[in-house]
Amino acid sequence: MTTDDTPSPSGHAEDHHGAMTAFETLQIHAGQEPDAQTGARALPIYQTTSFVFDSQKTAADRFALAELGPIYTRLGNPTHETVEARLAALEGGVGAVLLASGQSAEFLAIANIAGAGDHIVASASLYGGTYNLLDVTLRKLGIETTFVTDAANPQAWKDAIRDNTKALFGETIANPRSEVLDIAAVAAVAHEAGVPLIVDNTIATPYLLRPIEHGADVVIHSATKFLGGHGTSIAGVVVDAGSFDYGRYPERFPGFNQPDASYNGLVYARDLGADSPFGANVSYHLKLRVQLLRDLGPAASPFNAFLIAQGVETLSLRMERHVENTQKVLAFLDGHPQVESIQYAGHPSSPSYALAQKYTPKGPGSVLGFTLAGGYEAAVRFVDALRLHSYVANIGDVRSLAIHPASTTHSQLSEEAQLAAGAGPAFVRLAVGLEGIDDILADLELGFAAAKTA
Ligand SMILES: *Cc1c(COP(=O)(O)O)cnc(C)c1O
Repeated sequence: MTTDDTPSPSGHAEDHHGAMTAFETLQIHAGQEPDAQTGARALPIYQTTSFVFDSQKTAADRFALAELGPIYTRLGNPTHETVEARLAALEGGVGAVLLASGQSAEFLAIANIAGAGDHIVASASLYGGTYNLLDVTLRKLGIETTFVTDAANPQAWKDAIRDNTKALFGETIANPRSEVLDIAAVAAVAHEAGVPLIVDNTIATPYLLRPIEHGADVVIHSATKFLGGHGTSIAGVVVDAGSFDYGRYPERFPGFNQPDASYNGLVYARDLGADSPFGANVSYHLKLRVQLLRDLGPAASPFNAFLIAQGVETLSLRMERHVENTQKVLAFLDGHPQVESIQYAGHPSSPSYALAQKYTPKGPGSVLGFTLAGGYEAAVRFVDALRLHSYVANIGDVRSLAIHPASTTHSQLSEEAQLAAGAGPAFVRLAVGLEGIDDILADLELGFAAAKTA
């Protein structure tokens, strides 16, 4: 490795070609130079576990973080580094960590600041897996979560905060309820309480919404979805805004302010904060990498990192078409006699409509749902009759997807929690794909014809 290959500690793309500012440019170029040894133009897949140190000193410096460079793929890999720098650039963060799944990203993002005896405040309207992580698994580990059901009301977040609260957490556009988080208002509540705001931006993607610009401190993605975009690879990412000063609250965040015995006594807030030699507050994502990724190990594979990078190169184009097709599906569902209600933040009936206009002027993504007349049975017949739509537990594929959450993704939740998450018995979720719109609509007609027989 030459020094050019060493990741910039800030995680930003080194810019040797003049200004790169447009999203469309960054999604193709940020974080990548032609390969220094071969000139390879596309991103090489560094399918290797480990990296040769040119001397004992290099090795010692890398382990001591005196030099940032690859050691072992569990901790980092040049293919990952490009994806990390690119997503940091697209979200406007100071760095990012690519992980094996969206779920591992959620877990590490929280475990990085909270431990047994601590408390999180989260929106109740969440992806089922994240809800379970907070409600069951983290509770077993001693991290308690209070779920805010009235997430549109900043006062409800404020009221849930306790002395041991370590973060506020929400999805920028909730899956599947399509509720838009009032990021600026919730960030203001978080910062007043001296805790960071962590958001999951999976459904919006940075093309439609950049939460850091509105005050979020940490942005998570299931890269499995729109970032990869083709339904091929599970991966997740945690993007660090570098905005939250953990050093200001030494008692609330001991993990950032007391020496890390497992890392040569490193004090993250002091040694990697805004005054660090790195020129930015990189403490959050470097702590997550050198401590939690090292110890817990949910590393993405280099091949999956490559596939996520392939997806990101066309993110803006795909999101534009995802949204365009979604508008047409919405027009078709709107006023349909078998549709009782629509859940999509871009629909005027949505309680989130005004927030969607504010935060996602290009459109609130391509995940929408609707409640069918005829109850559970109608919903089941509807999804079984679809031919073009794939019946899968996924979103953010080029292919159109459908699912009945009550019997699948949300089946482990109580009916009460299902309804709170917006996934009642007659609810069908669509993730509108990139096929020809007439074919998508014709397929939905098949579903409605079958639902009528219920
Ligand atoms: C899919 C998803 C996750 C989980 O991501 P995986 O990559 O499946 O682990 C988390 N949050 C949201 C909003 C999701 O859609």
